[in-house]
Amino acid sequence: MPAGALHDRGTSVMGNLRADSALQYVQGVGPRRAELLATLNLRTVGDLLEYYPFRYETDCGEAAIEDVVPGTLVTIRGEVVRVGGRRPTVRCEVDDGTGTCVLRWFNMPYGAYNLFRGATVIATGVAELFNERLELRQPRIQVFAPDALLTAQARGPRQVGVYRGNAQVNSALIRRTVQNVLAHAELPVEEFLPPALLARRKLPGRAEAIRQMHRPTGAAALERARRRLAYEELLLMELAMAVRRQKRLTLQSGMKLHVTPEIDRRIRARFPFPLTPAQDQVVREIAADLQSGRPMTRLLQGDVGSGKTVIALYAALTAVANGRQAAIMAPTEILAGQHFRNIDRYLVDSRVRYVLLRGGMSQRDRAAALAAIERGEMDLVVGTQALIQKDVAFNELALVLVDEQHKFGVLQRHEFRTKGPMPHYLVMTATPIPRTLAMTVFGDLDVSIIRRPPPGRGRVITKVVPRQKWDVVMSYVRGRLERGEQAYVVCPQVGGRDEEAAPPDPAERRRGNPGRAVVTAAETYRRLTEGPWCGLRIELLHGGLPAARKQAILADFVAGRIHAVVATTVVEVGVDVANATIMVVEQADRYGLSQLHQLRGRVGRGARDSLCVLLAYESSGLAGERLAVMARTTDGFRIAEADLKLRGPGQLFGTKQHGLPELRVASIVDDFGLLEPARQDAFTLIAADPGLVRPEHQALRAALRKMFADKLALIDAA
Ligand code: ADP
Ligand code: MG
Repeated sequence: MPAGALHDRGTSVMGNLRADSALQYVQGVGPRRAELLATLNLRTVGDLLEYYPFRYETDCGEAAIEDVVPGTLVTIRGEVVRVGGRRPTVRCEVDDGTGTCVLRWFNMPYGAYNLFRGATVIATGVAELFNERLELRQPRIQVFAPDALLTAQARGPRQVGVYRGNAQVNSALIRRTVQNVLAHAELPVEEFLPPALLARRKLPGRAEAIRQMHRPTGAAALERARRRLAYEELLLMELAMAVRRQKRLTLQSGMKLHVTPEIDRRIRARFPFPLTPAQDQVVREIAADLQSGRPMTRLLQGDVGSGKTVIALYAALTAVANGRQAAIMAPTEILAGQHFRNIDRYLVDSRVRYVLLRGGMSQRDRAAALAAIERGEMDLVVGTQALIQKDVAFNELALVLVDEQHKFGVLQRHEFRTKGPMPHYLVMTATPIPRTLAMTVFGDLDVSIIRRPPPGRGRVITKVVPRQKWDVVMSYVRGRLERGEQAYVVCPQVGGRDEEAAPPDPAERRRGNPGRAVVTAAETYRRLTEGPWCGLRIELLHGGLPAARKQAILADFVAGRIHAVVATTVVEVGVDVANATIMVVEQADRYGLSQLHQLRGRVGRGARDSLCVLLAYESSGLAGERLAVMARTTDGFRIAEADLKLRGPGQLFGTKQHGLPELRVASIVDDFGLLEPARQDAFTLIAADPGLVRPEHQALRAALRKMFADKLALIDAA
């Protein structure tokens, strides 16, 4: 059928629409507009129907010009009685029988609206009085022929969708096109949720929901529609998680590692303390995984200092006791070294053979170590992730432990060169992951959590202090340093130029606040040594220092030979210094909550109470709210939830690497109430029909494939 026939005027409702019909054939579109719409990736009727308004405006219906109240948003309709203005300004006068109103556009492209005397226009805009005349500036208008038969609009206020456009396409064109599609009694929308689910969750059908999204009949109906579509997205996402998990459980065979009472006893005997109940619980979970015959894929969460290392070692020694190998990987050389020293401490006089792969190793040592690992003459290998992954071949690698520390955003599935079956895998993170994210991003992993630290820790008291009190704070801290405590002073930046930085809050920038200098570690170091901390032993520590120098400073700090380190955030991955009981964070408002929480975790490691001072340079609005959260709680999970609410998931992860599909309707933060049921439903569905092969699940399966396209090649294998 020729295209022209389809969008002929007068063909108000054309033949059957299909979801894959090109938009060109929708009434009022045609090839040129179709091209424009394609710039928004809107190519088919289906694309358009799923392109939802990003907000709604209240359309109050038409008003008589004599009733128009200046300062309000109005829609008027009348006849054009005069068109003029000097290009590019267009001025037009409209009369509706009750009065006249001026419409004015500045910078109107010539001929953008085909205005002529006698035409009927419907114009929407904010009415203002100029020279005592009613005027709409830059109104939105529709122009009709003089003889157009327009039915009178007798209706109350209604919500009208506003769509995200671009330079070529405005919201109005999208809305008009959508309305032309909605004019069809039957939308080409397929329901893919099984009827049983719809009924159980009391959700409207898909076509109805989509119609409501574009043309809501009321606030309640709109919310119901939004819920339905949000649920559908969350369900698909959780289905992907469930499928991935199912696949792991059924398709892969792991190495069976036995945890006999004898092995358990021998491992525990290595630790100078009994495990806490929280650690015991995690150890049980891990032992069950290791013995299951399926590869473990577990995420272990616990604040810094909660005792994860011991658990990692327990798991590693289980592998060794079974005659296999284990690898422990850390994000930095410092951390790898720390793990190694811990292992060294716990394993004195044991027969376990372990090695640290360092970057600075000699070729010979390295070659010897690699050979031993490959021959199975090394039980435990410690190193950074890069080091271990790159070129190490294992003999019988049974367990991989990854200390992600604070970088849980990138959970790669590591590939190892190993002869045996797929190794067990345990990832440790010190970043508490909010439950919502644990259920989404890491939804296919098993999760263990240590909520309570080992006993005998002091409290950490947090104070938010305005920067004007800098001298007072530092003098006070000096007193405590002189009495034998140690402190960290953390600054956002090392040094160099005192760069002007924009304030973190965009609203602040709009108010004309040009920003303020970043407090540098170098400058703070100078101020302290020349001022309130004159005569004390202080060191400047930052990531740019040679590794040996950093190690030396940290060693001095651990040994109590220096009072304080002024540092950038390198202390995040620093060592365990039980005597460090004071932390001062400069410009605390520049950090994310999770980062502050991690920083704070550096103190409070000993038995004494600790103090954390957050120097606030900005205490209004969001910044103040965030710092208040820090002062209120030390529970990492509550802080993470707050951070997520305040800044959204993007900030927590930074990139798209987290593998979350793009959600159009649902919000990970606000739709938590839907996420939980969606997850339940998804896991129940997959348990009953793992491949979604039943006839009633075909549509669901197709929708799942569409949502994840090639991102996760998961459905095919299922
Ligand atoms: P994480 O790796 O989670 O940051 P670590 O495993 O390094 O924490 O433990 C922090 C400190 O707590 C270490 O000094 C460790 O010796 C100690 N510790 C761990 N478990 C226990 C326990 N069950 N009882 C007493 N102290 C413990
Ligand atoms: Mg640790």
